[in-house]
Amino acid sequence: RDLDEALESLVRSIPDWPSPGVTFRDVTPLLADPEGLRLTVEGLASLGREIAGSDIDKVVGIEARGFIFGTPVAVALGAGFVPARKAGKLPAETFGVDYDLEYGSATIEIHRDAIEPGDRVLVVDDVLATGGTLAAVDELIERAGAKSAANVVVLEIGALGGRARLDPDRFGTLRTY
Ligand code: 5GP
Repeated sequence: RDLDEALESLVRSIPDWPSPGVTFRDVTPLLADPEGLRLTVEGLASLGREIAGSDIDKVVGIEARGFIFGTPVAVALGAGFVPARKAGKLPAETFGVDYDLEYGSATIEIHRDAIEPGDRVLVVDDVLATGGTLAAVDELIERAGAKSAANVVVLEIGALGGRARLDPDRFGTLRTY
């Protein structure tokens, strides 16, 4: 079975979750499938390497499902792993960026010393929706004096237009809805 088939059959759509009118794309069946998990991690690593066009020093994974995919991608690329977390979760000095949600706003943070100036960084998350989260994480990496060399996700929800908020040359997805 190849990656396209795995993504087709192992991502589950949950209607009206977490709120009426929203269809949530649930990647837990993909994670639970040994081959689906392996193909997805390999796919993200090779897409990230291809877009970045050079060695990657750090992989930033976005809380929470970006941690799951980002860590094995970092191992595959010989890079370190850095968590981007919701406000108040990281214990040492942080950089923070505020971004808009559908209702209200949120803050995402990284440790100030986790990324060194000049590092080439790959950002990994499970789903691109409006793009607000990934755009905020790109800004965090710039704040740290480094460069976001590529943004890769497992799934893009195309109708929400999130790609337009990112640099299209640095964005990659394994599948678009
Ligand atoms: P955005 O900031 O692009 O609107 O939202 C992206 C963030 O919300 C990601 O961190 C992603 O994990 C989460 N998210 C939004 N919609 C979905 C969805 O349908 N499925 C999953 N698994 N995550 C989602």
